[in-house]
Amino acid sequence: MRVLIADDSSISRALLRNTLTRWGYEVLEAADGDEAWAILSSSNAPHLAILDWVMPGLTGPEVCAKVRETHREPYTYLILLTSKTSKDETVEGMEAGADDYVVKPFHEHELKVRLRAGRRIVELQLELLQAREELRDRANRDLLTLLPNRQAIETILMHEISRCHRESSQVGIMLLDIDHFKRINDTYGHFAGDAVLRETASRLRAAMRDYDHVGRYGGEEFLVVMPNCDLEQARLQAERLRLKLCDHPMLVDGTDLTISASFGVTISDCTERSPDVFVRVADEALYRAKDAGRNCVSVVSLDESLLRPVV
Ligand code: GH3
Ligand code: MG
Ligand code: MG
Repeated sequence: MRVLIADDSSISRALLRNTLTRWGYEVLEAADGDEAWAILSSSNAPHLAILDWVMPGLTGPEVCAKVRETHREPYTYLILLTSKTSKDETVEGMEAGADDYVVKPFHEHELKVRLRAGRRIVELQLELLQAREELRDRANRDLLTLLPNRQAIETILMHEISRCHRESSQVGIMLLDIDHFKRINDTYGHFAGDAVLRETASRLRAAMRDYDHVGRYGGEEFLVVMPNCDLEQARLQAERLRLKLCDHPMLVDGTDLTISASFGVTISDCTERSPDVFVRVADEALYRAKDAGRNCVSVVSLDESLLRPVV
């Protein structure tokens, strides 16, 4: 684990560095409070720091206070190194945000166990953060295709629509549905159907621009969100994806399966903010594509949609 030592005395730093290196820590050094703050506020900051109390620039407690103000995650465990021994002063250091303090000249064994306590807290918090990330990821992911699930892709669409409103651009929205998917299940079994869904997801993802998003919207329905594009670009992209799905068969359990999908495409417009409305228009377009014989792309704008009452 990396530790920052901040002390204006090069002799003290050398002593600490040698001791900590011997205990297996990787040491970073700062010669004053400002340098310590620069390191602790950087993107690759260490999670443990030993700060001298009195330093040029920011003092140790001032560095502690600034670190705490940022509420950064993962937590930074701060130990003040002080020659101040009065209770009032050490309480002041802890109030500023230090987790612990060690009195100078430090007692080696004491410093060792206090550092170990800090490391344990940092490691526990890292584990918690990782578990939280995994839970969040699991809550947002469809487990079969590993794409964002319906709730997650709807959230993405909402953010993209808000962003495009701010930037006066448009978001293309595409809803696609595999044609006669029930027949695949009925003929080849549910597992083959699952494999087709996975392969569909991976073909869609592989054929999309980096900044576009795709999620599993329902059983065999996928929602694609395309920021910064107009209706014609959205239609062309749907056409490209349609071909990627049907132009060569999927190999499932040794059987070549040719599938196709129908596509409904629309574009956000700056009069309407609700993502639901656009999904409903895309769904209307998808319905028309099914009606027109499937394996095709249908485009409907909000103006042309049945959702918009004619005045
Ligand atoms: P259409 O061309 O009109 O869309 O016909 P379709 O057969 O694709 O549509 P329908 O809605 O009749 O059937 C969809 C089927 O998708 C029914 C459902 O059992 C199946 N399905 C939904 N989710 C899954 C899944 O996770 N795995 C598998 N294997 N099948 C699924
Ligand atoms: Mg279908
Ligand atoms: Mg369907």
